[in-house]
Amino acid sequence: MEKITIKVHKKEKLYYNLMIMFTIIFCVPGLLFLPYLLLIGFVILISTGLFIGYIKGSGVRVSKDQFSDLHEIVISQCEKLSIKNVPEVYILESGGLLNAMATKFVGANYLIIYSDLYEVIMDGRKDIVEFIIAHELCHVKRNHVYKKMYVFPSLIVPFLAHAYSRACEYTCDSVGYTLSPRGAIDGIKLLASGKRLYTKMDTAAYTKQIAMTNSFWIWFSEKLSTHPHLSKRITPEMQRASFNSFRYSDGKKSVINATQSKTEVEQTTPETKEIEAEDKNKGDDHQRFMPKL
Ligand SMILES: [Zn+2]
Repeated sequence: MEKITIKVHKKEKLYYNLMIMFTIIFCVPGLLFLPYLLLIGFVILISTGLFIGYIKGSGVRVSKDQFSDLHEIVISQCEKLSIKNVPEVYILESGGLLNAMATKFVGANYLIIYSDLYEVIMDGRKDIVEFIIAHELCHVKRNHVYKKMYVFPSLIVPFLAHAYSRACEYTCDSVGYTLSPRGAIDGIKLLASGKRLYTKMDTAAYTKQIAMTNSFWIWFSEKLSTHPHLSKRITPEMQRASFNSFRYSDGKKSVINATQSKTEVEQTTPETKEIEAEDKNKGDDHQRFMPKL
């Protein structure tokens, strides 16, 4: 099986080196606050443990007997990325939210996939799920969770940790794109507009919208975010590749999904509409603005 070499975003290394430098600088005065730091560490340990306990108790563990299609994707991609410590994967009911995450607890890796995101596999969009899984496995491979903990004293430097986190996201999008080129663009569009509307989105218009409406607040909101704006995550490289490789509805820019017509028919039944309306009423409004993936 062909192994994948991760192309690490150049700013990921730069910002992490800066965080190491600031951690060393703040290390000596930081010792004065050691009891508080230990207390914070203890609180994080307990809250993460409770979260993992909930996931293990209420989520659905993916295995060769449970959602085997997803299990196969994870095993295959772990081999390609040379990940030996294969994460435990759980499906979590999400009340309509589209998200996924990778985390780590006492040495074990975990992937949590929100159920609505996984459901696109039933619409024939395995490639989107492959993109999502590859992105999350990149976080595992690059050890992003623990790396952020090692340099937590540098959190005192404004914007730096967020900048590092955004660079990590670009690295992982790149891995997702490498392992699932076609799933990458539609995956990001899905996160942006949801399971029905993403097939209708004009990719070029979406990627240009920041330039068209550029403002201080767009820039500033990203600086305070751990994730880049979604419209920026469809890179020119992805767009060029999609233009060369995929089929288009009008010979220009809209990607046709192989299963688009099937998806549209299935999703316009009254019953489905009812379920979706119900889903929209679930969940906390704040969660809808959470960083994706
Ligand atoms: Zn991510």
